[in-house]
Amino acid sequence: MDNIMATDRKELIKGRFAPSPSGRMHLGNVFTAVLSWLSVKSRGGEWLLRIEDLDPSRSKRCFSELIEDDLDWLGLEWDEGGLEGKGECGPYCQSERGIFYEEALCKLTAKGLTYPCYCTRGELMATNAPHLSDGRVVYAGTCRPERLEKGSVEGKNVRATRLRVAEEKITFCDGIFGETVVDLSSEVGDFVVRRGDGAWAYQLAVVVDDAMMGVTEVMRGCDLLQSAAQQIYLYRLLGYDVPRFVHVPLLCNSAGQRLSKRDGSLNMEALRKEMKAEDILGKIGSLAGLTEQAKRLNLHDLLELYDENRLRRTEREYIVLE
Ligand code: GLU
Repeated sequence: MDNIMATDRKELIKGRFAPSPSGRMHLGNVFTAVLSWLSVKSRGGEWLLRIEDLDPSRSKRCFSELIEDDLDWLGLEWDEGGLEGKGECGPYCQSERGIFYEEALCKLTAKGLTYPCYCTRGELMATNAPHLSDGRVVYAGTCRPERLEKGSVEGKNVRATRLRVAEEKITFCDGIFGETVVDLSSEVGDFVVRRGDGAWAYQLAVVVDDAMMGVTEVMRGCDLLQSAAQQIYLYRLLGYDVPRFVHVPLLCNSAGQRLSKRDGSLNMEALRKEMKAEDILGKIGSLAGLTEQAKRLNLHDLLELYDENRLRRTEREYIVLE
């Protein structure tokens, strides 16, 4: 009996959409949501909505409500999660899940893998470590306990708790970007799992949540491709099964800039005034490479057309809007 249940659980495909409620969704957020919904629904799977409101200064309940309203308007139903908290694996808002992050952090600490970091932002930026294209700095391991001289941090504030990374290359096969290799120590460095003010870091929270919620497929924007390696490292340390990763291209405006929640012209408020849901879904179908040109489509049409192998694979990470 146990075996049968274990097999059943294994076979359930579960995808998720995990927006941060820091503004109205733009077309790029919706693009990711639609593709992840199609990906699991085309294989009879389930789709979960998790509200990633870890940052209290940027997250607002009204944005979570608008996200739900926009998903409803598009016809994207979630089987689990959301503000109402439908399902067995809740709570589904990260702000209510601190106890689980605490447990995970304790496990990492018990393995001797975490340490307090005293570096200020200014000190981090001033190190000679390479800066990544997105502005992040590869942490040089300055506060690793074995490197600190006795008494050197006395009176200093703890700015973060960091996870020690191994000299290890993480290799995984992304559903769109294919084989991806990230050398954790030279490309990332020891990374933050909790901020000095107590706020939980995205990398830790997302792994704990996806694992505890039984997510088998993580489909999201390719700005998080490298993060997948950090997350795989955490999955292994915490003893969880690693999900399948699929990173989709990010959308840019006609000036070649990534859409941001502040980019008013392509946010859902403006789009819903001008377009019907089927126009937006049609546009997403053509941007993704599922149709030759934009034509009105409903979700059912898109489901028929959906094939991950047909998703447009751009050399650059972005699709420029015409
Ligand atoms: N909360 C993140 C965002 O809105 C997405 C994280 C993820 O999908 O792993 O950008």
